[in-house]
Order: sequence, then C-alpha cells, then structure tokens
Amino acid sequence: MPVDGPPPAERSWWMQESLGADPGEPCPPLAGDIEADVVILGGGYTGMWTAHFLKERDPGIDVVLLEQDICGGGPSGRNGGFLDGWWGHIADMRTTYGDADTLELLMAAGRSPSEIGAWCERHEVDAWFTHRGDLAAASNAYQEGRWQGTLDEARTLGVQDEFEVLSPEQVRQRCASPLFGGGMFIRDAATVQPARLARGLRRVLLEQGVRIYEQTPVRRFGFGRPAVAETAGGAVRAGEAVIGLGASATWWKAFHPYLTVRGSYMVITAPAPEKLEEINWTGGEAVRNMRSSLHYLRTTPDGRIAFGCGGLQPGLARRIDERYAYEEGFVRKTAGDLLRMFPSFRDVPIEAGWGGPINVAGFNLPFFGTLPSGNVHYGLGYTGNGVGPSHLGGKILAALATHADDGFTRLAVVTREPKRFPPEPIRSPGVLIVNEAIRRKDDREDAGGRADPITRFVARIPRRLGYNLGPR
Ligand SMILES: Cc1cc2nc3c(=O)[nH]c(=O)nc-3n(C[C@H](O)[C@H](O)[C@H](O)COP(=O)(O)OP(=O)(O)OC[C@H]3O[C@@H](n4cnc5c(N)ncnc54)[C@H](O)[C@@H]3O)c2cc1C
Repeated sequence: MPVDGPPPAERSWWMQESLGADPGEPCPPLAGDIEADVVILGGGYTGMWTAHFLKERDPGIDVVLLEQDICGGGPSGRNGGFLDGWWGHIADMRTTYGDADTLELLMAAGRSPSEIGAWCERHEVDAWFTHRGDLAAASNAYQEGRWQGTLDEARTLGVQDEFEVLSPEQVRQRCASPLFGGGMFIRDAATVQPARLARGLRRVLLEQGVRIYEQTPVRRFGFGRPAVAETAGGAVRAGEAVIGLGASATWWKAFHPYLTVRGSYMVITAPAPEKLEEINWTGGEAVRNMRSSLHYLRTTPDGRIAFGCGGLQPGLARRIDERYAYEEGFVRKTAGDLLRMFPSFRDVPIEAGWGGPINVAGFNLPFFGTLPSGNVHYGLGYTGNGVGPSHLGGKILAALATHADDGFTRLAVVTREPKRFPPEPIRSPGVLIVNEAIRRKDDREDAGGRADPITRFVARIPRRLGYNLGPR
C-alpha cells in the first residue's frame, strides 16, 4: 500500500546527520599529475578499508584515493547499517564453495562485527555501533520455517550455536508487529549509522596520511605499469590500483559478465521512542523478514525506525541514473510497507526517503581478484550485504595489492571464478522480468495469497540456472 513519501533530498538522512555532526576537513579535487604506490578508485567502505589495511600493513606506503562524490556519498553512506557476517548465507555457500571453504569464509567474515566495534572505540568513531543481533521474522504464513534450511546446514557444519529459533511469542517480546510469526535470531550481528562509519573511516585515513581527493571522478583508466587513473584535473600514476567502485564497475568490460544492478530504497521516521516501547522494540536488534525482496528495519538511538526494501529495479538497469538515489513510487511503497508492519506509527512523520544501487553477483557473495596485468585488484558484487563483508574485503585487497600470498588471498571469494550472467540482449530484460516476478511473488504472499504458477516459475529461474538469487 503506497503512502505519501517524503520528497527527494540530495543526500541520505544518515549522511545529512553525519555531516551535521562533523563535516570533516575538506578534501579538494585532484589538481595536477601525481604519483603513488597505490591508487584506489572509489571512496566507499571497500576503497577506504583497503586504504586503512594497506597503511596497517606498511605505514610508509603512499596511498591515493579518488572519489567522484564525497567519501560515503554512494551506498556506503546510504545503507541500512546492518553489520553482519555471512551466517545467513550458509545454505548458498555450502552449495557453491563446499564445507571447508564455507567454514573458512564464515569465520573470516564473522570477525567483522566485533572488529568494527573495537575499531570504532579505538579511533573514537561514534558510529552508533549496537551489537544486539539480527532477528529474521516471518511476516506472513508462507515465510514460517523458511529458516529451517539455514539451521540444517549450520548443524552440519557445527555452527548451530550462532542461531536461535524463536517462537511467535519470543519474537513479539523483541519486536511486536501484528504481521510477525516465529523467527530465527543470529547473535553475532550489529547495526551502525552507516554514514558516520564512512566519514569516521575517512577521518582515520587522513590521520594515517592517505591522500583523498573528493569530487574527482575517474574518467579513463590505463591498465599499464604504472596504472594511470585520469581525472578532469590531473592523473595519478601508481604501481598498484584497487577498484572499489561498487555498482559503477558493472560497465567495465572485465566485470560486466559478473555483475548486474538492482535498487534498494529506505525511509526513516521521526523519533518516537514511546511507540517503540509499545511494540517492545527497545533492544536495538536489526530485524528483517524472509522475503527475497527483503524488508530490513532497525531502530536508532533517538527512537526512529529506518526501514528498507530491497529487490526494486527502476527500469532495465543499463546505467545508474538518478532513479537509484530516489524513485518516488519505490519510496512510497517502502513507506507503505513500514506502516503495514507497524500500524501504530501511522501518525509518526516519515522524515526522509532515499535509495541506492546494489551490485549483484550471481553467487550472492562478493568476489575479489587481480586482473591479468597483475597490478589492478578489485572487490565487487556484495549483493546488498557489504557493511561487514567490505571490512574483510579491505583486508583481502590490501593483501592482493601488496602481493602477499596469505590466508586472505587464498579465500574462496578470491580463488573461485564468479558466476557469469547471460550476455545482452537477453540480460537486461531477463533480469528485469525475473526481479519483477520475485517481488510480485513476495507482495502476493504478503497480501495473504499465493502467486500464480507463471510468476512462481519465473521467480525460480535463477535457482534453476545455478544462481544463488531469488526464492528456493
Ligand atoms: C539502500 C541500501 C541499503 C543497504 N543496506 C545494507 C545493509 O543494511 N547492510 C549491508 O551489509 N549492506 C547494505 N547495502 C549494501 C552496502 O551499502 C554495499 O554493499 C557497500 O556499501 C559496498 O561498498 P563499496 O565501497 O564496495 O561500494 P560503494 O559504497 O558503492 O562505493 C563505491 C564508490 O565509488 C564511487 N565511484 C563510482 N564511480 C566512480 C568514478 N568513476 N570515479 C571515482 N569514484 C567513483 C562512488 O561514488 C562510491 O562512493 C545497502 C545498499 C543500499 C543501496
């Protein structure tokens, strides 16, 4: 049920709040030609964690980071702030990588929530880090028990203690929506104010001596030795380059086979702590449901609900345009879904709405590697789950860019070739049709009915073709 949505704003509510608290010191655009040991393209979490871990490995390394907007201006400062590892991906991971690699990846990514919390404390970054777990609740009868596969796989790997099954009553004690039934709780998950984390990272990088140029889009990139990143105001020549461009990398020839783009949209309410108390949602848990086009929701310390809806695609996704930052229909739908889940918030104003692009990889996990030139490294395809994993991604990319042969460079997300998407002209219309079917199926089930057989068939096509995307 779409409702009146808030008007578009230049930046996400998170970023406005963060810049209001601390705009940070300016990082003017690049002016002139310079040299560096490593040039990083993209000032999101991936680029920034990479710069950070490079400096941790070798404080003397000269790192330049180029960002077309401001650091965190993209998805890294617009997301839901769910900070978790890959516990919820166990079933897909076992199918794709097998038991040993899955365990190794779970352990590596599982460190990120605690490590990011400790990092924030150490560097005095107040990113509202809240380590209270992640509740996956059934929000309609069709979703009941959908967590069973995850639990079975967890038991097989011996990591079942990470999970707790909750009865409808136990779910209500944590977050009482009239839509919720039972659920599954993952203990090791946190939330952050995503833009505060991004801007905090930026501040720490400047303290570490990383040279950051904002408002500096890279217009051409030369894959030589040195690699050359050309911008309007000058070029950077560097022995090593790291591509952390998120969804924008989809149109690079080397990455196009492995990425597609979807949108995700969020709204945030005004503070209403008394209403959160009425629905028992005072513990700070991240909450999601079991849709494929996921609803993800969390609270803020001042008593707001931030509510997002994934799997929304404005058009054929042949480029990223302004509809990914704001699309009125999708923002209104997201606001309507929030009120359906929490009718008592009907008279609480919705203060802001925004969106961002999601770079989707076929196995539903990111991939990392080095291009044949040997000095250009990449980390892409987080598929809507990058806040925690980009921290691991930064460690991997710092290892790749220093040519370390270690546990990070041998992880399966580095060594395994990602899944290819079909070529155009099949890809764009195909992905749009399938995404629409997935969302239609979810919406129909939310409305209390079952989707028609054709919709169900189309929604399951990705699984039939070996992608870890869409309903099982
Ligand atoms: C609405 C929304 C909600 C989300 N919610 C969650 C969540 O709750 N939990 C979670 O784990 N994940 C979530 N995600 C996904 C998460 O935000 C991303 O996986 C993560 O931010 C990826 O970080 P990144 O650094 O790889 O990419 P990005 O954040 O996309 O950073 C890439 C940067 O590259 C810059 N850039 C692009 N082109 C150029 C160029 N030519 N030159 C220079 N710079 C360029 C961009 O401006 C951008 O800042 C969400 C995403 C969205 C959009």
